[in-house]
Amino acid sequence: MNKPSPTAPSSRTRIRRLPELANYERAALHEIIDQSYVCHIAFNDGESTHCMPTACWRQDDYLYIHGSNGGRLTKVLLAGTQVSIAITHVDGLVLARSAFSHTMNYRSAVIYGAFEAIEGNKDKLAAMDVFMDKIAAGRKHQARPGNDKELAATSVLRISLAEAATKISNTNPVDKEEDLNLPVWAGVLPMAVKHGEPIPADNGAIPIPDYVVRWAHA
Ligand SMILES: Cc1cc2nc3c(=O)[nH]c(=O)nc-3n(C[C@H](O)[C@H](O)[C@H](O)COP(=O)(O)OP(=O)(O)OC[C@H]3O[C@@H](n4cnc5c(N)ncnc54)[C@H](O)[C@@H]3O)c2cc1C
Repeated sequence: MNKPSPTAPSSRTRIRRLPELANYERAALHEIIDQSYVCHIAFNDGESTHCMPTACWRQDDYLYIHGSNGGRLTKVLLAGTQVSIAITHVDGLVLARSAFSHTMNYRSAVIYGAFEAIEGNKDKLAAMDVFMDKIAAGRKHQARPGNDKELAATSVLRISLAEAATKISNTNPVDKEEDLNLPVWAGVLPMAVKHGEPIPADNGAIPIPDYVVRWAHA
């Protein structure tokens, strides 16, 4: 079941609702980010509050994103706006004997702070290489690298993972005593992201790289 949790790094990351599901260990946070391709970033641009999905990756104790310089999200984040970021994995549906005892198994992270820009083409390219490695290890040596124009039009940003919490639920159904003998199936329906069969974009003239061959069986 869930591990004992060290201390929350701040008041706003202290999990109050079901604190036994709290986990503040770096390894748990890093794994949640590394297994996700997308995070949701909530921010206020002065007029309204938004929550935007965007691709993400991790390097050391930072979460990275990238985006077009012209995009609202990029502009707001470059201005140092405070954000809250959520990442979620649904690991299963927990079917209890009573309707209100149903729940989900999950691993989720919430991160607070402000992004900073990665400056200089060398550091931007290095960060983008880590992103490419996450998508397909080895592909950065095959795809055409970003050129000066593409790099100039793109911002790469990172946020410290210092102020973050993870909440992990991994349970069987928990029914009330009086419901245990109901003639209702109870249990867990596990869920996971599934890799599909690769779909080639051309007529097969290019040799298939190992990372594509391995994809559907990973
Ligand atoms: C897949 C999934 C389904 C869920 N379904 C429901 C639902 O149907 N109804 C419901 O009420 N809740 C649901 N939750 C739990 C929900 O995310 C909140 O934890 C819960 O609603 C309590 O919110 P709160 O603001 O009262 O928490 P509090 O404990 O007061 O939050 C305090 C702080 O703890 C941290 N924190 C809280 N929740 C999380 C989290 N999930 N992950 C990481 N850090 C967190 C944040 O830093 C937050 O500011 C679900 C979570 C997941 C991942």
